[in-house]
Amino acid sequence: MAIELDIKKLEGLQPVLVKNNPAAHSNLYIETYGCQMNVADSEVVVSILNGEGFNLTENYKEADLILINTCSIRDNAEQRIFNRLNEFKALKKQKKGLLVGIIGCMAERLKENLLEKEKLVDLVVGPDAYRDLPKLVKEAEGGQRAINVLLSREETYAEISPVRLDKNGVSSFVSIMRGCDNMCAFCVVPFTRGRERSRKPETILNEIRELLDNSYKEVTLLGQNVDKYNWNEGEVSFAKLLEMTAQLSPQLRVRFSTSYPQDMTDEVLHTIAKYPNICKYIHLPVQSGSSEILDKMKRGYTREWYMDRISAIKRIIPDCAISSDFITGFCGETEQDHQQTLSLMDWVGFEFAYMFKYSERPNTYAARKLPDDVPEEIKSRRLDEIIELQHKLSHISNKKDLGKTFEVLIEGVSKKSDDRLFGRNSQNKVVVFNKKDNQIGDYVMVKVNDCTSATLHGEIVE
Ligand code: SAM
Repeated sequence: MAIELDIKKLEGLQPVLVKNNPAAHSNLYIETYGCQMNVADSEVVVSILNGEGFNLTENYKEADLILINTCSIRDNAEQRIFNRLNEFKALKKQKKGLLVGIIGCMAERLKENLLEKEKLVDLVVGPDAYRDLPKLVKEAEGGQRAINVLLSREETYAEISPVRLDKNGVSSFVSIMRGCDNMCAFCVVPFTRGRERSRKPETILNEIRELLDNSYKEVTLLGQNVDKYNWNEGEVSFAKLLEMTAQLSPQLRVRFSTSYPQDMTDEVLHTIAKYPNICKYIHLPVQSGSSEILDKMKRGYTREWYMDRISAIKRIIPDCAISSDFITGFCGETEQDHQQTLSLMDWVGFEFAYMFKYSERPNTYAARKLPDDVPEEIKSRRLDEIIELQHKLSHISNKKDLGKTFEVLIEGVSKKSDDRLFGRNSQNKVVVFNKKDNQIGDYVMVKVNDCTSATLHGEIVE
């Protein structure tokens, strides 16, 4: 069974920094699917509509406007969203005037088809058109077809102060760039999110200062390929932006996602090593361990190049945890290619991985030129094998932490016991430990005394 951890439904999140608009006349309910970028985008959308008289509700039955922020990355992500739209269709019959809108990647990919298909939605808004939402909502209220799916070369929503939708008030996503120019053969992102563009650094730092003022302790800088962050033709690189962020406060933890093997420089690695508050964790998607498949995927690097980047991480940041993404059963993948993926996983010893079966996406290079020729049962078997290996690798990595003491940022109360808290260490591992007089948002030192493949367990030490 596939582990689809990046297709999370973040339904009914408790807003933390909602500026309740006293002049609000309507309720907005928003559901977010897919990647962290979508979470950050939903926060921008809520901010835009908050200023236009919409207050956020956690109960979709109270909503006047329901928005679904969508993901197109794999076919099953889209199917889940169609099922949800059908549920809302029933609600629309009961509640006159209720508007349902689809925003984000599926809106961009399917455009007017969504308005036409069984009249499931009233408005369709792509990822670069959120500033137009107030106008589009009015058009939809007037019974018009409301759609804007224009992609932009400039839009970064730079100065919009997002309304935080996270539950804990401790860690937040901050978007530093939009779009992707990589054109990997399998990937729909360049079609749904447009060209790469970087956000002005001052606006990023101001957003983080506002988070610090509101007691946040951790930010994750987001982009499809953060290593390509580039403001004003080299004036501010990703390494520089990381450094400027880390210098805002030693109390602030800095994370980032996603790095790209071809573009990740030693300068970035040295910056991570230099600042204790830049977390020692890198998500570096490899997709396959076979150079032939990487070539077909148009990833722009080989197995050897990837291994060189891993060696550089281990040399420059010895305590760094590394995770990755894998696609099994890409076009033409042989048993030997698959074995190469397994051997690369073993060689690196990843702490964690997101693993997927290849899903052909319309209009991508692979859909146009390469037959999706690995049978479903072989894709599933290979996926099972990499999941099993990853469990073993995660467990091995966690066992190495037994007896070590880590600084942990407390994020909440453990699901399994009210007497225990959880947080993450710099390496992004979840640590569960005994409760003392500490609050969510505190840093504590925890000594690890037990583990599973997913979690470290320990006790607070003074
Ligand atoms: N920008 C990142 C990169 O490629 O380096 C990742 C972006 S994507 C939102 C997250 C992951 O989804 C990818 O790394 C890949 O493993 C997976 N993915 C993307 N397209 C896919 C497809 N057509 N079928 C299966 N998995 C896919």
